[in-house]
Amino acid sequence: MKIRKIVLLIQTIILFLLISVFSFGQTGDSTIVKMKKSNEDWKMQLTPLQFNILRESGTERPFTGKYENHFESGKYYCAACGNFLFSSDKKYHSGCGWPSFSDIESKENIVILEDTSLGMIRTEVRCAKCDGHLGHLFKDGPPPAGLRYCINSAALRFIPAK
Ligand SMILES: [Zn+2]
Repeated sequence: MKIRKIVLLIQTIILFLLISVFSFGQTGDSTIVKMKKSNEDWKMQLTPLQFNILRESGTERPFTGKYENHFESGKYYCAACGNFLFSSDKKYHSGCGWPSFSDIESKENIVILEDTSLGMIRTEVRCAKCDGHLGHLFKDGPPPAGLRYCINSAALRFIPAK
């Protein structure tokens, strides 16, 4: 009788463990923890230009951003939440007036949306963590993918490689 009870107990523990692992796997599809702040909080943290771009989907004037002609080796993070977005080895000179990247670093960190504002159909690029507007995606980039992630300098924070 005693052994049967122990076996039953072990079976229950195994079942419990399996259920927790399974439910963790279901909610653990993305490792991104969303950051939510009020507009007042963002206004306190960001410059007016950063707020206009990141929270109001604005665009900086072409050829004015600090990273447009910047080709140091390092990583680019979201200026609002610090999420890792782009790497300098995918940055290239497109001549369009904004920092251009041929690829992202992780599909988890970026959200791609259809943007129909201004009477155009464009593809919007957002930060997956804070939902901040970063720029747009165009299909005139270099091979092999042919993509151009056209990103506002003010939405980025560059940290040089050591
Ligand atoms: Zn962000």
